[in-house]
Amino acid sequence: MTQIAEVIVDVPTMQTNRPFDYAIPASLTKQISPGMRVVVPFGKRQLQGFVVAITDQSSFEGTLKEIVAVVDLRPVLNHELLQLSQWLAQSTFAFWISCLQTMLPSVMKASYEKTVRLEPTADPKLATELFQGKQEIPFSEATNLTSAHKLLQLQKEQQVEIVYHVNNRAHKKMLKGLLPTKSVAECEALKANLTKSAKKQALLLAYLTSVAGQTEAIAYQQVLAAVAVSRETLRTAAKKGWFKEVAIEQYRDPYAGHTVEHTRPRVLTAEQAAAVTQISQAVKESQNEVYLVEGVTGSGKTEIYLQVIQDALKLGKTALMLVPEIALTPQMVNRVKGRFGERVAMLHSGLSTGERYDEWRRIERQEAQVVVGARSAVFAPLSHLGVIIMDEEHETSYKQDDMPRYNARDVALWRAKYHNCPVILGSATPSLESRARAQKGVYHLIRLKHRVNDRPMPEVTVVDMKNELKKTTEGNFSELMLTQIRQRLIRHEQSVLMLNRRGFSSFVMCRDCGFVLKCPNCDISLTLHMDTHSMKCHYCGHEEAIPKVCANCHSHKIRYYGTGTQKVEAELKELLPTARILRMDIDTTRRKGAHEKILNQFGQHDADILLGTQMIAKGLDFPDVTLVGVLNADTALGLPDFRASERTFQLLTQVSGRAGRADKKGEVVVQTYNPEHYAIQLARHHDYEGFYKREMTLRHQGNYPPYYFTILLTASHEEENLAAKKIFQLMNQLKPVLSQKAIILGPTPRAIARVNRRYYYQMVIKYKNEPNLNAELTKIMQDNQETKKGIQISIDREPLSFI
Ligand code: ADP
Ligand code: ZN
Ligand code: ZN
Repeated sequence: MTQIAEVIVDVPTMQTNRPFDYAIPASLTKQISPGMRVVVPFGKRQLQGFVVAITDQSSFEGTLKEIVAVVDLRPVLNHELLQLSQWLAQSTFAFWISCLQTMLPSVMKASYEKTVRLEPTADPKLATELFQGKQEIPFSEATNLTSAHKLLQLQKEQQVEIVYHVNNRAHKKMLKGLLPTKSVAECEALKANLTKSAKKQALLLAYLTSVAGQTEAIAYQQVLAAVAVSRETLRTAAKKGWFKEVAIEQYRDPYAGHTVEHTRPRVLTAEQAAAVTQISQAVKESQNEVYLVEGVTGSGKTEIYLQVIQDALKLGKTALMLVPEIALTPQMVNRVKGRFGERVAMLHSGLSTGERYDEWRRIERQEAQVVVGARSAVFAPLSHLGVIIMDEEHETSYKQDDMPRYNARDVALWRAKYHNCPVILGSATPSLESRARAQKGVYHLIRLKHRVNDRPMPEVTVVDMKNELKKTTEGNFSELMLTQIRQRLIRHEQSVLMLNRRGFSSFVMCRDCGFVLKCPNCDISLTLHMDTHSMKCHYCGHEEAIPKVCANCHSHKIRYYGTGTQKVEAELKELLPTARILRMDIDTTRRKGAHEKILNQFGQHDADILLGTQMIAKGLDFPDVTLVGVLNADTALGLPDFRASERTFQLLTQVSGRAGRADKKGEVVVQTYNPEHYAIQLARHHDYEGFYKREMTLRHQGNYPPYYFTILLTASHEEENLAAKKIFQLMNQLKPVLSQKAIILGPTPRAIARVNRRYYYQMVIKYKNEPNLNAELTKIMQDNQETKKGIQISIDREPLSFI
């Protein structure tokens, strides 16, 4: 009987969540299983698809087309991840194919070239017969000479490896190195002929003597670390023929060259110990429980995670730890690597596609049992999961903005259920959604009320900038802030200063007519960038020169408004000429490794002040930091979003937590124009519980989450009236399926109504229980794929941003 594969095909213009049936040709029987990628005919084209099931029946009437080729020798997605992809598609109103692709490293999505590489341990016969003396041959060449089945066998025996090459991207990383060619006697002879002054060359020859006879190449880096000579000395020596210069392939280890200090488990505080005992018990007994660890900053949450992971590993289980991208600081990475070393794999955006792919394979081959990563690491192909940890669980970066619009927290909960393992949600400021679930008893609430060693929480002073403005000129620093920074300089302590950039930017305005330069494509003003001397649109990337005259009235009185980190840095340098300042923002951290470099410098006390945007608020743990200053606490308060207070409270709590983490007491100065606002006052008193109660009351009154679920629908088009027409049509379609209790907000133009030449209209549905809603939204998604008319629809379940 013919076997049939159900395949999700990648058709960009006509996506569907329905698998298509394909016959498995006789030549491929027993080689295809669910989770593999295949090539199938579709219309006149050939496309890639994922096999999601194998059956022997098809409801399709007519002759089935046959699968053309199989891409993988073994599944790239296992049973769990296939099931997860289906659930993800349904629950986020996404296309199945985009979910499948999201779960894999991008190198497997991109067009690629596949080769077969000979492993060093292979049978020599293989080297001559199949590889004909080469090390690596194209996959197609290999399958011409032997069957895919045979290759699979060889791969299992570790004789060959299947390698994916990203098009045009160099795959191997090569290093310069030396291969010793001279014997000990030859080296001695060379040394005897040197002049007395040639000290460097003598050193090098002594080194070459010590490695004489070695058949493996030595990287220059390694040589330079061993002897005090320069690259120049090596170059000259190579020319003289003292050794052979060679290129060495380097394995892509994102942490090569980093020395990670090994750390031992600490003796736990009573609060920590109670938490670890309770959670590790659940790991051991495979209980699918959720623990919300609500611990003040510096209460030692990370140490709890590490010890639970250790307990899981002891039981032969694996662990997944998620952290927000921005908190993936080298400090955090080192803490985990320092504890579990080689067993850790990292997945985050700082890695190159190649490094990511290598890390993914280490996980997939079960060589790594601990995964630390940002949002998409939640799909890491770990088996035998013992625990899933989500640090800073309230972070919005866990939610993806594009299809599939998933929240990693929901995926983590799904996977934990599949594996019957506990989940730890950790935060000093849990999301209201999670905290409310703990209140109801759905989650276990574990509270850590004290900092490690009973270090006091930092004292927070709020400065009313309305009064300051009367005193001084237009500066960004209050008197108190400056006094405090000066004190730190005298005491050789460090300060962290944060400029909140959310909902806020530098722009250019004409002083004569008030004209503000806007993006020609979007409904937003252009941002001034001093580093590139240009005006940029943060939404579409449009860039133009800084204007010298007003485009409206031709006046020359152009003024720069707003406060960028660069401007603050300049101001600070003028006020405190002796202070050493490091600036950390998108501009200074664009290059790979720049982030780490700045933090290392600060950690070594090479600077007195770290000035930065929100990216400095999380995860930093420096003992000499005794002052945290927030220059503008309230820029986010005015945003048209019901979570504005929650975000402000979270940010202030996080950044305050950077102060006084070691023996020295910490202080925090918060500058604001809304000193009485409850988010600021409660953050000042480190009162999360108070904030939770207050905010819950407001959410209840306003019928907002967590009392209601929300769905955000958006329609966009280049012509405004077509976008508007569509959103009203969708509202009319949805109204009949909704109950009286559902609330519809809008439709309205989006807060930023025009982006990239498209107009956006939106509506929000708030609801508690609507049995017919999902089906109708799924239908809307299916019916409104990008059509010829150019309308685009997006459906966002539980959006975290309404702007
Ligand atoms: P949190 O993540 O809750 O902000 P951390 O895990 O970063 O807190 O811990 C704060 C500091 O206390 C860190 O420097 C950490 O190394 C240290 N620490 C944590 N637990 C202990 C412990 N049991 N004994 C001593 N020091 C600890
Ligand atoms: Zn003007
Ligand atoms: Zn734009």
